[in-house]
Formats: sequence, C-alpha cells, structure tokens
Amino acid sequence: SGRWAKAMAIVRELDEKCGTPIGKLMQVADAMAVEMHAGLASEGGSKLKMIISYVDNLPTGDEKGWFYALDLGGTNFRVLRVQLGGKDHLVGKQEFEEVSIPPHLMVGTSDALFDFIAEALKKFVDTEGEDFHLSPGRERELGFTFSFPIKQSSIASGTLMKWTKGFSIEDAVGQDVVGELTKALERVGLNMRVTALVNDTIGTLAGGRYYDSNVIAAVILGTGTNAAYVERAHAIPKWHGLLPKSGEMAINMEWGNFRSSHLPLTEYDQAMDAESLNPGEQIFEKIISGMYLGEIVRRVLCRMAEEASFFGDTVPPKLKIPFILRTPDMSAMHHDTSSDLRVVGRKLKDVLEISNTSLRTRKAIVKVCDIVSVRGARLSAAGILGILKKLGRDTLKEGENLKSVIALDGGLFEHYTLFRNSLESTLKELLGEASETIVIQHSNDGSGIGAALLAASHSQYL
Ligand code: ADP
Ligand code: MG
Repeated sequence: SGRWAKAMAIVRELDEKCGTPIGKLMQVADAMAVEMHAGLASEGGSKLKMIISYVDNLPTGDEKGWFYALDLGGTNFRVLRVQLGGKDHLVGKQEFEEVSIPPHLMVGTSDALFDFIAEALKKFVDTEGEDFHLSPGRERELGFTFSFPIKQSSIASGTLMKWTKGFSIEDAVGQDVVGELTKALERVGLNMRVTALVNDTIGTLAGGRYYDSNVIAAVILGTGTNAAYVERAHAIPKWHGLLPKSGEMAINMEWGNFRSSHLPLTEYDQAMDAESLNPGEQIFEKIISGMYLGEIVRRVLCRMAEEASFFGDTVPPKLKIPFILRTPDMSAMHHDTSSDLRVVGRKLKDVLEISNTSLRTRKAIVKVCDIVSVRGARLSAAGILGILKKLGRDTLKEGENLKSVIALDGGLFEHYTLFRNSLESTLKELLGEASETIVIQHSNDGSGIGAALLAASHSQYL
C-alpha cells in the first residue's frame, strides 16, 4: 500500500543518512586526532577541551588502606568503600551503594544537590563494619568522580564549566565542586576530606592501569560518552607548569563535544539538538550515547506515524512524548530473537501504548533500532581510532611490540550487546593487521575504584 511504501522510504532515507562507510569513519578519526592536537595547543583551541587532569602518576599497586569514592555521573550516583591491600593483594574488601537522583534535584540548586549527596554518604559511612580501620587521628579520605566538564586547578579542586546529560543547576556553574561538596559534608556533620577530584574517564583509566600497565586510554559509553588517555607531557603545549617527573599526564578529552562536518547527522538529530537543554553542544554525545539513542528512534517512529500512518490513522499520543522510549527499551527490542518479535510487541504496548502491531511493522522497528545503534557504535570506534592515531599506535611498527589496551565502561557498552559487538568489529576493520595489538577491555566500575586509588595516591598523609 501507499502508506507502507512511504514508511519504508523514511527508513531507507534514515539508513542512507546514517551511513558510516569505512572512508567516512577514517575521516572522523583523522578529524578527532586533529582536534586533539588543537585542544592541547591552546585553551579554547578546539571543541575538544582536552582538560589537564593533574593526574601525572597513575596507580602503581602500592596504594594501601581504606578509602571512599563517590561517583556522580548521570541518573545515579554510587558511594564506594574499598580496602586497598598493596602489591600482592590489590583490592580487598569493597562495598558500595547506588542511589538514584530525584529528577527535581538535577535542575534545582547546588546546595540541594550536594546536601542530598552528603546525606547519602553519611548513611553509607554509618554502615562501616568491624574490619574498617583508620590509623589514629586520620580523617576519612574520598575520591570524587564527577563526570561533567571541570576546569581542574589541582588534583583536588576544579570549577564546573557546564552541565551535560540533562543536568541544569545554574548556581553551580563556575563553582569549585569540591568546595560545594565539602560545605555540604560540614552541613551534615560528616568528617571526610576530598583528596582527589576526577572525571569518570580518568577514574576508569586509573582503575584500568592498576590491573594492566598496557592501559593507555579509557572510554565511557553510558548516559553520556567521553574519553581520556595518557599523553606525553611535552606534547601539551598549553601546559605551562613544571613537567611531571613521570613525563606523562592524563587528559580528559570531553569528546562528547566533538563535532565535524564528516559526522552523519540527520534531521532527527538536528531537531533533538535544537530542543535540548544544550543546543549546539555535545553533538558527538547526542548521536552515540545512551541518553539519546532511544530518543532518536522515537523521533523516527513519530515521523513514520505522522507521515505514513505507520501505527494506523492516528498518531499514538505517547509516541509524542520526548525521551519516553529509553535506550534500554530500544536495546530490548533490538535483541528480540523470538520469531514473532514478541518483546518488540510488549515494549510497544508497555512503553508507547501501541497494540496489535503486525510482524512486518515490528521488523521495521527493529531495523530503525539497528540503524541508529550501528551508527553510534561505528562512530565510537572511529573516535577510539582517532586516539590511537594521535598516539601513533594505529599501525604496526617494525621491531616494536606495543600492546595498547583501552578500558571501556558504562551501561551502554555493558548491556547493549549488539552495540558493543558492532563497536569491536568496526575497530578491527579500521585497524586491519594492527588490530592484533589493540585490546578493548571491559573495566567494570573501574571509575569508582580508580577514584579511590587516586584518593589514596594523593592522601594528605603521604
Ligand atoms: P552513567 O553514565 O549515568 O554514569 P551508567 O554507566 O550506568 O551510568 O550508564 C547508564 C546508561 O546506560 C543508561 O542511561 C542507559 O542509557 C544505558 N543503559 C543501561 N542499561 C542498558 C541496556 N540494557 N541497554 C542499553 N543501554 C543501557
Ligand atoms: Mg558513570
């Protein structure tokens, strides 16, 4: 029928506009490497902020004692208590708790957010067991993982540059987030000192390096996306401080803000961006990460409903609600292997209140999920190739046997298997024979442990 043909034309056009042939991915990788150079050359020199993390020594394995970590990333935050055991024992006991952030606090005031966090931390501290031990006179120390762009001024201070991922708390922008947290800890009467402020990518890099010295970069694919890597200190022209003894510096790329004319963008992306809290920003993040993939699919389905009566004569009202289709729902539909696609049917009913869909309708929806997720996964792989190119690790070198490990973490990478498979196979394809030397390592909650490790290596008692 005419309607079906029109709907299929929309899917076909989406497929074309989202296309990521190898040549295009190479251009994206090259553009990423170029922007990395520019961001390292001067402050504000690139869309990539290439933030100096002040982490110039990654964990060695010698770190010892009990430490806390706090991870504020997206919709949840985690509090963590770990016992570091030194070289032969590494991580001993670990305990954690996850707390979801009430949505009104994501757009409220700085005090309200930090009071909520401090209260949760205090409750967690109250659960310290018999084996928890600090030497007499020592304060508890905490590594604070804060996954928003920070202009770092030392290992334990930094001001918030802007919010991302749906947060918008005006009075926190420009504030030192360690100061904000410390004041809240005082307000709730919790005696604890923040000794390291790190981004989740830096935490994951540190956590990854702790277990494997070949880890050179970390990538987060969760609610948002970002990457960090280890740079040679002399390759950071904008760094005017003393060169660190190690000769290295971890750089937080803030790659979510990458954009390039080579990125395959569609009208759906443009509309979503225009209506977002941060129009024009975080374009790479908006086509790759978990906060947005489901929303892009919803927008495509909405257009199919409006212009091709894809779900019947009327547009299902729920389908018009932004962000109602979450990436985990999209992922569940995409992974449906049943012959009648009953998971797709159930999600349509439960999430969008659309019932009685035909098998071919469900198949078309799976196709839309596939197009959107494969674009995100392949572009993520191109971003990783960009880092490898910047470091000169994207090709095999005569007589050298360098192994490069990339630590990956985040709910999207962890749970969206088809996304992850596509990312991994695309990276292999892009690297060719050099892919033997590159390993993608899932670093489960590396960022929490990493922050605790950095709190330990920057302890006030060393
Ligand atoms: P954050 O990025 O908020 O710190 P996570 O790394 O845990 O937290 O990632 C959570 C995000 O991962 C969710 O917002 C969602 O987009 C994505 N995600 C979680 N579960 C799944 C799933 N089953 N399939 C696809 N994406 C998922
Ligand atoms: Mg996180």
